[in-house]
Amino acid sequence: MSPPLGTRLANKVAVITGAGSGIGLESSVLFASEGAQVVCVDINEKGALATVEKITKMFGEKRAIACKADVSKEEDVKNMIKLAVSTFGKINVLFNNAGIMHPKDDNALTTSEDIWDLTMNINVKGVWWGCKYAIEEMRKTGGGSIINTASFVAQRGAATPQLAYTASKGAVLAMTRELAVVHAKENIRFNSLCPGPLRTPLLMEFLNTEEKKHRRLVHVPMGRFGEAIEQAKAALFLASDESSYMTGTDMNVDGGLCAAYVTPEGETQAVCPHTSFQ
Ligand code: NAD
Repeated sequence: MSPPLGTRLANKVAVITGAGSGIGLESSVLFASEGAQVVCVDINEKGALATVEKITKMFGEKRAIACKADVSKEEDVKNMIKLAVSTFGKINVLFNNAGIMHPKDDNALTTSEDIWDLTMNINVKGVWWGCKYAIEEMRKTGGGSIINTASFVAQRGAATPQLAYTASKGAVLAMTRELAVVHAKENIRFNSLCPGPLRTPLLMEFLNTEEKKHRRLVHVPMGRFGEAIEQAKAALFLASDESSYMTGTDMNVDGGLCAAYVTPEGETQAVCPHTSFQ
C-alpha cells in the first residue's frame, strides 16, 4: 500500500530537470510525495527512468513520467514542455535545475573556449529555453512558479577556480530577477535557489582531493557539506503556494556560507568556543 500523499503540491504538475541525480532526484520524489505529478527530465535517460521507478514504487502509478532531454537544445525543451501538457494537461511548476560543473573548468587563463561554451549552453541557455516554453503554458492557466538553480558562487567568488560555472550562475541569478519583474503581473513567479557546497556527484567529482574539499569547507560556518534533500525542501517551498508573495529572490541554502567572512589564513571567523571548523 502506498503511503498517503501530502497536499502541499496537490493538483500541481511539476517539470524538474536534472531529475536523475542529486537535487533533481530528491526534489522529484519530494514533490511527488506532496501530491504533484512530476515530469522527470534528464539527458541521462536511465537516471530519469530510475527516478520515475522510485516514485512509482513509493506512490503508485501515474505520479511521474520520464523525459530524455538535453536542456541546451531548444527542440528538446519544447518537447519536454509539450510532453508535460499532453500527459498531465498543464504545467504549474518548472524547476530548471540541470547544470554542469566541468572538471576542466578552471581560471581565466586555463579554461578553454569549448568548456566555456558548453557550460553556458547548459547552465544559462538551458534555463532560458525552459522559461520561454513554460511561460507560454503558464499564461494559459493563470500563473505558475519557476525555480532556477543558481549557486552561492553567483554571490561570492569561489576559492577553487571554475570561471565558466561561476559566470553561468551569475547569469542565472540576473535572468531570474528580470523574469520575475517582467512577469509578476501574470502571476508567474521566478526565484533562484542558491545551494552551498553539497555532497552530490557534481561537486564531489570536482573537489576530487581531500585538500580541495577542505579548501571549500573552511568557508561554511556549519562545517559540513549540504545534502540534496535540504535543497529539495527549499525548492518545495518555492514551488508551493506557501511562497505566493515571493518572486525575484535568491534563496540561499548554504550552511551560512554567504553570511560569513574569512581571515587572511582562509579560516571562517567564529567566536563561539564550541564551534570547530575541521
Ligand atoms: P548532479 O550532477 O548530481 O545532477 C545533475 C543532473 O543534471 C544529472 O542527472 C545530469 O545528468 C543532468 N544534466 C546534466 N546536463 C544536462 C543537460 N544538458 N540536460 C539535461 N540534464 C542534464 O548535480 P546536483 O549537485 O544535483 O546539481 C543540480 C544543480 O545544482 C546544478 O544546476 C548545479 O550547478 C547546482 N548546484 C550544485 C551544487 C553542489 O554543490 N552540488 C552547489 C550549487 C549549485
